[in-house]
Amino acid sequence: KKTIRLDKMLGHIGVASRAEIKKMVKQGRITVDGVKVKDSGLQVNPEESRVEVDGETVLYRKYVYLMLHKPAGVVSATEDNRDKTVIDLLPEEYRAFSPFPVGRLDKDTEGLLLLTNDGALSHELLSPRKHVPKTYEADVAGEIGDSHKQRFAAGVELDDGYLTKPAELQVLEYYEKDGQSCSRISLTIVEGKFHQVKRMFEAVGSKVHYLKRVSMGTLMLDPDLPIGAFRALTEEELNRLQ
Ligand code: URA
Repeated sequence: KKTIRLDKMLGHIGVASRAEIKKMVKQGRITVDGVKVKDSGLQVNPEESRVEVDGETVLYRKYVYLMLHKPAGVVSATEDNRDKTVIDLLPEEYRAFSPFPVGRLDKDTEGLLLLTNDGALSHELLSPRKHVPKTYEADVAGEIGDSHKQRFAAGVELDDGYLTKPAELQVLEYYEKDGQSCSRISLTIVEGKFHQVKRMFEAVGSKVHYLKRVSMGTLMLDPDLPIGAFRALTEEELNRLQ
């Protein structure tokens, strides 16, 4: 039987955090099938029970929208024979929605990954015609300077001859690692070719040592979200994205 904890269910669909839900239960604001809930850990079947918050029925939604802080070492796929996938990081209550990653990050790339079962939104965000900007932060080899900025702004030619669209490069800091000079940079691209950021740096004679995505369109990686953790998008984040 498909039951989950009430606080988990409400937390997952973005009603409130689990701590807040506990408080709301104490305040007597939540009912299940008309009965005031006393324990936020109550097991409910969201498909069969009517859950109300302040007298309003909570819809167990069709769509789920999750922000994942992807760790390195997992693949952006729903299934894989060898590797752990981003979907494996989700608890069963979420996997039941059959979410999939919107676009891909390399296995060794960290950062923002949107997971949803909303095919239309995914399509919009990934459509090459929409030029949805994606911002990455990276540690790269060498001292990146103005000449690199200009080259990225003009577009660089990748190893397969593809000329990239204008991209905005910013240097965040310079540092040394094992006696080699390195740069911490931020790069915004409006397309998503295979290994694009890595190949763009290769095209200018550098190399990406570490890569993290920090935003996609209007959606920004929540700085309070630990690596490997996820949360539901807020109503506001979702509205801005749609
Ligand atoms: N560019 C890359 O090279 N890798 C990623 O994971 C994302 C963008």
